[in-house]
Amino acid sequence: MLVLVINSGSSSLKYQVRDVAAGTVLTEGLIEKIGMGNGGDGDGEIEGPRDHAEALEQVDAAIHQELGGLELAAVGHRVVHGGERFAEPVLIDNEITRAIERLNPLAPLHNPANVLGIRAITRKWPDMPQVAVFDTAFHRTLPEHAWRYAVPDELYTNHGIRRYGFHGTSHEYVTRRAAALLDLPVEEFDGVIAHLGNGASVTAIRGGNSVDTSMGFTPLEGLVMGTRSGDLDPSILVFLGRAGWTPEDLDTMLNRESGLKGLAGNNDMRSVVEASESGDAKAATALAVTSYRLAKYIGGYHVAVGGAKALVFTAGIGENSHQFRALVADRLGALGVELDAGLNAERSRDPRVISTAGSAIPVLVVPTDEERAIAEATAAVVSSSVAP
Ligand code: AMP
Repeated sequence: MLVLVINSGSSSLKYQVRDVAAGTVLTEGLIEKIGMGNGGDGDGEIEGPRDHAEALEQVDAAIHQELGGLELAAVGHRVVHGGERFAEPVLIDNEITRAIERLNPLAPLHNPANVLGIRAITRKWPDMPQVAVFDTAFHRTLPEHAWRYAVPDELYTNHGIRRYGFHGTSHEYVTRRAAALLDLPVEEFDGVIAHLGNGASVTAIRGGNSVDTSMGFTPLEGLVMGTRSGDLDPSILVFLGRAGWTPEDLDTMLNRESGLKGLAGNNDMRSVVEASESGDAKAATALAVTSYRLAKYIGGYHVAVGGAKALVFTAGIGENSHQFRALVADRLGALGVELDAGLNAERSRDPRVISTAGSAIPVLVVPTDEERAIAEATAAVVSSSVAP
């Protein structure tokens, strides 16, 4: 089955055409600067497509040029927020689109773009089956004691303020692959998954289900990230608000100027590791803070899952930075975790074990592939919806 996977942001649209059975990518691309141009109508500067519909025309043309007249069977959308309603991927119809739209206030930067992408496809290919795959869905199994914030109940009931968690598609995919690598049925997998990219989150998995996760009401909570602060004392915001910072100032500071960037002046882990190795004290501090905070979460989640059977690293930093993995593992001595320096330093695209035979639990590197997971989920939903 050929599936077009769409990840639409407010001004960009990433796409892949995948052959689900073969597990291959036939073509992929990125349309940028949506809404920043005139689409090339000869009237001055051409910066980008006028809107998502025009971006989709460009995608269609690019696919056609690359692959000729192939027949797409379905479109899978990455949708950031599924709120409390969506616990799994769903076939999209008008009611589902409106339900995703109603969640816009919870993800004001992401869901409106997802809805624009869905509507653009509905207009262009009205008969094309479309599936929404939600970033939050895998975390719908969190128990209440993990998703509740200790604030007045009214904030939850009237405003939906609770932990939702994100990166769910990746955490679920990596959980399945880690269980397979360890020869365990996924229902018997208890472990901790660290998705460390420019955005980063860690999830506690018990019996194959998410039972806690570090991102919360928004993707800001939890770990130190490329440009996001992760956890901090909320009173700092009250303090700054009283000092005249506006909500927009706070938002920008916490989401765009903090994390590795705030501590080391650079949000790219490679550069921070290199700077630290050449003696930059700020970079060394940034790595210490970031690895320490992750180690604290891993310790906590080891308890949350009743004893992790594995620790798994994934995403850009988790898959590629042996230096950062070693810094984290060095702080996990109390759990009996021991990396094999040789295995840790090896570069590979395959899921693999990087701990010693004597390590109390195996440490794994499992490459994530959100597009593949979305394509597979889309094919599964479409196949089951046309089955007799
Ligand atoms: P992602 O958001 O998953 O693409 O991850 C982006 C992060 O991965 C950035 O901080 C990169 O610096 C980091 N990263 C990518 N490749 C490497 C590498 N070879 N070594 C260290 N960090 C890397």
